[in-house]
Amino acid sequence: MTADTDLDVLLAELPQPSSREAFAEIEAARRAAEARTPRRTIVPEPVLPPLWPHPDSGIVRFPCALGCGWTHAENIADEDPDPISVPLSASPKEIGRVLSERAERRASLLRQRVESAIREHFKVAHEGQEPPEREVW
Ligand SMILES: [Zn+2]
Repeated sequence: MTADTDLDVLLAELPQPSSREAFAEIEAARRAAEARTPRRTIVPEPVLPPLWPHPDSGIVRFPCALGCGWTHAENIADEDPDPISVPLSASPKEIGRVLSERAERRASLLRQRVESAIREHFKVAHEGQEPPEREVW
């Protein structure tokens, strides 16, 4: 018996969904996708940094959506100045929550910095125009 035949045996033992069940699952996924609230942002698609040891490694650039050549740069290697504070008695779940909240806070601050830079750029270089928005998941 080979690994493939073992897998075939195991797959044969799994309950097979009926076509009605498969259709219901696809339909539920489609309804969930339609029901989601689309989020819109003025933050353009970032240009990811080149790998180390390139001098720009760690620098994420957010180019002007109008293609004028301007970019806002963020150094993602910058350390968070706030210490991570977790009680010694914290469970793995609590540690996960603390780290998730910290990551969410940092992401929010990054989003605010990038949005401010883009609005300032449009005020100076593209007076009277609003930064275009794009939909994000
Ligand atoms: Zn521009």
